[in-house]
Amino acid sequence: AEADRTYRFSILHTNDEHGHFWYNAQGEYGLAAQKTLMDTLRYDVQAKGGGALILSAGDVNTGVPESDELSAEPDIRGMNLIGYDAMALGNHEFDNPLEVLRQQESWARFPFLAANLYQKSTGERLFKPWAIFNRMGLKIAVLGLATPDTAKLANPAHLRDVEFRDPVSETEKAVAELRAGEKPDVIVVLSHLGYDDNGEHGSNAPGDVTLARSLPPGTVAMIVGGHSHDTLCMAKANEREKAWQPGAACQPDKQNGVWIMQAGKWGEYVGRGDFTWRNGEVALESYALVPVNLKHQIKNADGSETWLTWQQEIPKNTAMMKLLMPYQKRAEARLNVDVGSAQGQFNGEREQVRFTQTNLGQLILRAQMAKTQADFAVMSGGGIRASLPVGKLSWRDLLQVQPFGNQVVSVTLTGTEVKKYLDVVANIKPDAGGFAQFARVSLVADGSTVSDVRINGQPLQENKTYRLATNSFNAAGGDGYPRIDTHAGYQNSGSIDAEVLRDYVKAHSPLKAADYAPTETIHTL
Ligand code: ATP
Ligand code: ZN
Repeated sequence: AEADRTYRFSILHTNDEHGHFWYNAQGEYGLAAQKTLMDTLRYDVQAKGGGALILSAGDVNTGVPESDELSAEPDIRGMNLIGYDAMALGNHEFDNPLEVLRQQESWARFPFLAANLYQKSTGERLFKPWAIFNRMGLKIAVLGLATPDTAKLANPAHLRDVEFRDPVSETEKAVAELRAGEKPDVIVVLSHLGYDDNGEHGSNAPGDVTLARSLPPGTVAMIVGGHSHDTLCMAKANEREKAWQPGAACQPDKQNGVWIMQAGKWGEYVGRGDFTWRNGEVALESYALVPVNLKHQIKNADGSETWLTWQQEIPKNTAMMKLLMPYQKRAEARLNVDVGSAQGQFNGEREQVRFTQTNLGQLILRAQMAKTQADFAVMSGGGIRASLPVGKLSWRDLLQVQPFGNQVVSVTLTGTEVKKYLDVVANIKPDAGGFAQFARVSLVADGSTVSDVRINGQPLQENKTYRLATNSFNAAGGDGYPRIDTHAGYQNSGSIDAEVLRDYVKAHSPLKAADYAPTETIHTL
């Protein structure tokens, strides 16, 4: 870029779309309204003499059965129509095998970026580290980062030859390469690392704040982030405004001279940052999180309720509706199929399944035991993603509970091996995704080992063999479970977990919640 000239550019960003290409029952979000909004914003930027970049900070995959069913094809093609310029790779991009991700890449007319992602066997980067854009004469590099927590969060079977390297040193390395080669005027990090107030990331991998603080000043101009699903508007230094509401003013974070932005989740918002560049200095002119038809409920005088849009209703773009409708219809037809019914609540809320034994855990595990003729069963509570509705159950309802498409597997273990296995899984702490749901097991866990183990009410015997049912995610070592998929007694049923659940629900409906109350006791000292 030229000296002594002011350039304008804008960043339009979303993150963690999680399959929400279609609007919800209240007409909130969805790519059709987002398309209208993005067009308006982009023209506005252009009218002011600037150029816009449209960026997604990753996790386009997993979360809505209609999208999952179609491997997120409608989401990716919708993003093409909107004109996304680049996307970072989120952890959920690895819920599917790498071939599916490569297929998605082939649908996309924008690059999937990750500078810190390498193939173990070759030491080569697996994806493009950056993309270069020219906006009104300004050269902008967008550099992607994936969270090293993916190795913990996603299915290990999909990641055997994949290595997530440290985001800080990989950013420094990539920036050095960029400065030596492309020499961009501005470097934007597109990150799926997550935001933490004041960089306090607890047991998660370090996020955007730590990255910004760790880089020498001037390394990058800004971080466009995702993963933590935050509407990132600051209350004061180092503290996010937790009670922030749609339509309110929004100040992004700034750490060590680096702006950090994030736009909630599901395409509920489009983040818009208007910047200027002059003689190498980047300044933020204005910032907003624009809600995409988000609504709130108000009570009328007569006691009835109305949904109101926070801002003026954004019309749905017709070309986008034409593109997406056939996908939505096709998926709905496959999903809105009755599979049985539930009498009483089967609870799969995060606050339950990651803390205590649940009836939904029992139901899922009993289905897996029936499929594999197992003596007992175990799985991560974090693998249960929703509750079941009371009354009629559809295939869609079951896929919301188990969206990952894992296979049901089993393994024959000696009593000694069972004890070792349970030493690990029964001592995973509450709140973690790995917190275990059990069926036909009772035991006492003391923090590192287990005692008084009973399988189906009978004391565990060292020399007897037992059949354990679980899913391919946990079998491959997901959530830190001991690997059993390499054991001689391992068998993959080849059936998908949600399908196994469906067959069981069909055979046992109406399901009475009380019949699945967890009876065996898991006692922790
Ligand atoms: P993000 O924040 O990126 O959207 P997330 O919401 O999935 O990710 P968590 O809520 O922490 O993150 O959930 C992670 C947990 O989900 C894991 O610990 C695991 O229990 C479960 N999980 C993730 N992927 C799978 C999978 N393929 N099969 C089964 N369980 C999975
Ligand atoms: Zn994520």
